[in-house]
Amino acid sequence: MSAHLTTVAGVPVDTRHFIGGERVASTETFTDVSPIDGSTLGEISRGTAMEAAAAVAAAKAAFPAWAATPRAERARILHAVADGVEKRLEELAIVETCDNGALLRSHRRGVMPRVAHNFRFFADRLLTLGHEDFDTRGHTNHVSWDPAGPCVLITPWNAPLMLATWKIAPALAAGNTVILKPAEWTPLTASLLADIATEAGLPAGVLNVVQGYGSEIGDVLTSHPDVRRISFTGSVPTARHIAASAAPNLTPLSLELGGKSPLLVFADADLDLAVDLAVEQYDNAGQVCLAATRILVEETAAEEFTRRFVEKASRLKQGDPRDEATDIGPNIHPRQLEKIDGFVQRALAAGARAVIGGHRKDGLYYAPTLLTDVAQDSEIVQEEVFGPVLTLQTFTDEEEAVRLANGTRFGLAATVATGDPDRAARVSARLVAGTVWVNCFFVRDLRAPFGGSRHSGVGREGGTWSFDFYCDLKNTVTAP
Ligand code: NAD
Repeated sequence: MSAHLTTVAGVPVDTRHFIGGERVASTETFTDVSPIDGSTLGEISRGTAMEAAAAVAAAKAAFPAWAATPRAERARILHAVADGVEKRLEELAIVETCDNGALLRSHRRGVMPRVAHNFRFFADRLLTLGHEDFDTRGHTNHVSWDPAGPCVLITPWNAPLMLATWKIAPALAAGNTVILKPAEWTPLTASLLADIATEAGLPAGVLNVVQGYGSEIGDVLTSHPDVRRISFTGSVPTARHIAASAAPNLTPLSLELGGKSPLLVFADADLDLAVDLAVEQYDNAGQVCLAATRILVEETAAEEFTRRFVEKASRLKQGDPRDEATDIGPNIHPRQLEKIDGFVQRALAAGARAVIGGHRKDGLYYAPTLLTDVAQDSEIVQEEVFGPVLTLQTFTDEEEAVRLANGTRFGLAATVATGDPDRAARVSARLVAGTVWVNCFFVRDLRAPFGGSRHSGVGREGGTWSFDFYCDLKNTVTAP
């Protein structure tokens, strides 16, 4: 076997970059480790400024031809990529699970089908894009979505291929070329996607993948004058850094960042549903940007809610994410576990009470945790933990519920559980959030705008909003 191939759960994965349609190795590598058991998955090419610049050059060279490719042909190729994803769905699912520790059953049934859907949706959307021409004193206004150029897409490890393709698909559909920089903790499925895209007939240089550390190659990509869009999903500190790096070129940015979303449970809610929604927040071991980690319960319902929550949460099975029966897998990395435990121990020291959990378990597993007696201005309520840690606060009326819900610097999502449709409408209207779910959670439709307010992000992607971001919109005014 080539020195540049590793085999993960029986699936061969190329460990090199993918630049201009070729596999390119770096002199140095970094070790990719599985959070499931700490085993080494592969030695991955550790990108340098040279490979990063080469990827931008390849994307720039491929741009004119891809931008000029008829929409229908671009859409056809993107559907072929989706076909390839579906054909290799099992392989993608198991490799992703080994790499980031998320549940295999979720990858099989939810995440990887969504990856394919990302390509199909934006391919189809491209074909329906259009504005009505309109008239100004006899002149015709015609608005077009023109391809913008090479796009740098930087993604995190918590849902690697899903988040990458959520950006890649509209960027490519729009006629742009792409340089993807996957997270260094989860480099594998991006490499498989490069193979799938090649097999689907995507021309060389249209999709490039550069592996490596953000701290080492990020600036080369984000400060490059030939890059015309940067879409980033990740943390607020990195977003600040990227925004500064992109500023001299005024490169347009889309930023999808962290959250500290609330789940508001009113006493008139279906309490079993509210408990289901709350326990669901432990999904992906709490490593979900949208997770409603702050549970706000109306005081009169708090005791019963907590009793039912504990009962349900105690039935969760924590263990190997490859096991179909597992509900919660490991967290991603020892550093992340340290961070999670640090938040929890500081909260406990400040007077919080652990209703459940509050401690580490073996390996990279953290006990699902619910903390009460937490102050609104405390660190545990204000900062994103990104682990299976929820807080519970109570409120006495709608006014207080909204105040607590809106009382952080984030604004990604919010969930409202109530049996009163008027209340649902009133409260939703007052919440600062990119998405509000009423009596449900994580129902996503790619036609909808997605993004965060305040420090949860800049801009919206999804549906036509993705094309608005990835394109240079142009109005052509023609005289009669
Ligand atoms: P991170 O900011 O540490 O890293 C994200 C990516 O940025 C990685 O690929 C990393 O290599 C890269 N990076 C790091 N430094 C860089 C630099 N200087 N220049 C360019 N790139 C650089 O975030 P993370 O810990 O990997 O991800 C978790 C965060 O992502 C959480 O805050 C979570 O809420 C957020 N997130 C948001 C969404 C959303 O849609 N809003 C979705 C998932 C995750």
